[in-house]
Amino acid sequence: MVLQQALADLNEAYRNFFNSLTGKRKGPKVAPPRFRSRKDSRQSVRFTANARLKVLGDGRLRLPKIGDVPVRWSRALPSAPSSVTVIRDAAGRFFASFVIETEPRPLPETDAECGIDLGLGHFAVMDDGTKVAAPKFLRRAEKKLKRAQRDLSRKQKGSANRDRARVKVARAHARVTGARRDFHHKLSTRIIRENQAVTVEDLAVKALARTKLAKSVHDAGWSAFVSMLEYKAKLYGREFRKAGRFEPTSQVCSACGVKDGPKPLSVREWTCHECRTVHDRDVNAAKNIAALGRREALNVRGGQVRPAETLAQADEAGSRRGAA
Ligand SMILES: [Zn+2]
Repeated sequence: MVLQQALADLNEAYRNFFNSLTGKRKGPKVAPPRFRSRKDSRQSVRFTANARLKVLGDGRLRLPKIGDVPVRWSRALPSAPSSVTVIRDAAGRFFASFVIETEPRPLPETDAECGIDLGLGHFAVMDDGTKVAAPKFLRRAEKKLKRAQRDLSRKQKGSANRDRARVKVARAHARVTGARRDFHHKLSTRIIRENQAVTVEDLAVKALARTKLAKSVHDAGWSAFVSMLEYKAKLYGREFRKAGRFEPTSQVCSACGVKDGPKPLSVREWTCHECRTVHDRDVNAAKNIAALGRREALNVRGGQVRPAETLAQADEAGSRRGAA
């Protein structure tokens, strides 16, 4: 069964690759499948339901050829799984990941909407002025990881010390990614719960507007977070929008819609030359993103909004749940 599964995966990989070559498959180019090594640090195997996969009454997991494995469940399974993937990660931990059918669970509707600027100084800035910093424990874990990597690079190749150091690096890595994922989950769930519609800037577009350095520092975290927002919006019956077109969200005044000109990253606060509103750079950008989201939603519903219009209309900005 496991071998058949691998063959089916290979078949699909080739199909995707050839369909991508001939243009039958949309989206980014798909590379041909690669061989994996027995020595890869991340190993996985998939069992389907008809391979005698079974969750036993005492909480153990019955796997063919392996036996009954004790499992520490992170949560109860809502229905019978159609397959399970058992993964061993680089830090030597084992995970069981189940495929389950679920229904969307719409939350009660609210009027609140929110625009998010994924910033440099802060992890995220909302249009109501809330600023979310990356948590301290995450920064601490990142520091530890750096130290472990430095230690590893000083060990002699092929030595037992180097092996030990490599496990330490893998563990530190696991801790950083785990902490980051936990932070992303908590924040994205809260945002989706509290808002009916959420707008973020398209990351590809955002990357264009930023320097190379800033991009490399933040990309990984952002895209994981944005995709969480996207699937949670779907799951809970919320609207997820991407402000897709390139708009200079940090240059336009969110109060009167005037374009105030480019601002270097060092400018954290500025005054609109037209209406004299004092703006926090990131909060202003988040307000513009929220306005873009509202405008795009109107466009979709066939409203009379031309793309050439200014980013934020004064009345739009003023009608926001008391945000100033
Ligand atoms: Zn203004």
